[in-house]
Amino acid sequence: MRLSKAYVPTLKEVPADAEVVSHRLLLRGGFVRQLTRGIYTYLPLGLRAVNKVADICREEMNRAGAQEILMPMVQPADLWAETGRWEFYGKELLRFKDRADRDYCLGPTHEEVVTDLVRGEVRSYRQLPINLYQIQTKFRDEIRPRFGLMRGREFVMKDAYSFDRDEAGADASYRAMYDAYCAIFRRLGLEFRPVEADTGSIGGNFSHEFMVLADTGEDTIATCQACEYAANLEKAEAVVPADTCGCGHDCPPASEIPTPGAHTVEELCAFLGVEARVILKTLLFDVDGKPVAALVRGDRELNEIKLKNHLHAQDVKLASPEQVTAWTGAPVGFAGPMGLKAPGIVIVADRELDLDCGWIAGANAGDTHVKNLDLRRDVKVDAYADLRNITEADPCPRCGGAIRLRRGIEVGHVFKLGLKYSKAMNATFLDENGREQVMVMGCYGIGVSRIVASAIEQNHDDDGIKFPPSIAPYEVSLVSLAGKDPEVAQAADDLYEQLVGMGVEVLYDDRDERPGVKFKDADLLGMPMQLVLGGKGLKNGVIEAKDRRTGEKRELKLADFVAEFASWRRTVRQGWGLDIA
Ligand code: ATP
Ligand code: MG
Repeated sequence: MRLSKAYVPTLKEVPADAEVVSHRLLLRGGFVRQLTRGIYTYLPLGLRAVNKVADICREEMNRAGAQEILMPMVQPADLWAETGRWEFYGKELLRFKDRADRDYCLGPTHEEVVTDLVRGEVRSYRQLPINLYQIQTKFRDEIRPRFGLMRGREFVMKDAYSFDRDEAGADASYRAMYDAYCAIFRRLGLEFRPVEADTGSIGGNFSHEFMVLADTGEDTIATCQACEYAANLEKAEAVVPADTCGCGHDCPPASEIPTPGAHTVEELCAFLGVEARVILKTLLFDVDGKPVAALVRGDRELNEIKLKNHLHAQDVKLASPEQVTAWTGAPVGFAGPMGLKAPGIVIVADRELDLDCGWIAGANAGDTHVKNLDLRRDVKVDAYADLRNITEADPCPRCGGAIRLRRGIEVGHVFKLGLKYSKAMNATFLDENGREQVMVMGCYGIGVSRIVASAIEQNHDDDGIKFPPSIAPYEVSLVSLAGKDPEVAQAADDLYEQLVGMGVEVLYDDRDERPGVKFKDADLLGMPMQLVLGGKGLKNGVIEAKDRRTGEKRELKLADFVAEFASWRRTVRQGWGLDIA
């Protein structure tokens, strides 16, 4: 593509509302434009990148035996009523009526539609397993669309759904998708981790999220330095440490101490001159309308999803200041497990709190705490559970190795659904014995447009994007420094034609611009290989080649261009961990 003719409206100014680097660079480089909140047009370069990702997904899904279909974006409410999700899905589901006053929604996901499709057709075990997928535009009315393509309201997803005769079959389908996803992210050239993910309160199922590692990621994942273990924070088990206060539950009786103005753990530590680890933090929650006190050590962080899963709850909200006062009889900051006023309040403590005693905790009275608290002796704890976040000081729950916390962006999700949708929608088949059985399902999503943003979050510098070759809209940026020199212009044109003839995708900067402008744009747009042809190089029979990722430059001999280019290309691709295409 000649840049002189391409619709690539680059911007000099960084748009003020773009908070993350991928959003800024996608706007600056003329890849996308926002139409309205969270809804974007893909311009030529942006669309090429999205299509590159989609093509790799498609190839690997086909290789894994899945079949491509295309389901509608508009879905009738009655299907959603069958699974109960018309009521429960919440405001992300954009609902509307047609002229006949019938209810519809825009598809945020397609379990209902695909299950309806399969139940209508599949009668016998002989027709199973099936895995159907599509690459299609989803709509979710996200409460906070942000970060450009990272969290849009309209976005491109690859979603697949498997139907099996039994658990074993469903497990095999899941495994096949897991492997296909690993192949996809490897081919995309991204640093990623499959992590064990939370499946909420649906028991017996499992799930992995695929995370692209990037410092700007919204998710924290715990990875082991020694083994393959990687898990989401809400899923990563915090192992109970062996160290205790040493008295063996033989502390002196609990007694009140005055702590004027010490509301927070920090203030309390400063006031008493103690470490946070001897303090017991009491967090109060409204869980499905009922009061709950959750206890963790003062230097720990409670994980609300762990609490929610432990209680099999729908909705966990931090108690309001009014609720805190009503439940404790004290102002905020002095809650403790001993002497709570709320009738029937459930007390859940992190597992490590059972080992130790001698705690300092709130006394449920203003400006007062208690010391020498022993939960076993002084409080009726309803349950001990894994409530806290794992830290880098904790061992790997699988092998005991060192844990490292990293930031990640969720780009894919595989989920064994079991019978959830097939049972609700009566998707059954007849087995070998003529008995009716419910199909066992799995669903598998990839955020195609989000991947483009994630690739940029992971690979950029101050000058712009560093696209992995498999996602880059074009593999090569060819920069002509012809100026007014027709000989150089002709040589650059020839080279462009030659590359295209070799099957290379080239963005050819043939514009009448200063070299500085062209170099800046080539770095901004981020094609992995840059070729720069100027008068001097032409005279010497060479062209300058720059690897956008490393910044490394070399000269390729024009006389032996095909071989020299092929060898350089191999080097660039290997740098990305990619095989030679
Ligand atoms: P998130 O936790 O980020 O909201 P999700 O768990 O709701 O995502 P899934 O339902 O698993 O997402 O969807 C499959 C994939 O679609 C996700 O892994 C993600 O890559 C992508 N995705 C989800 N929501 C968005 C969005 N608003 N914008 C862009 N991509 C998205
Ligand atoms: Mg998810």
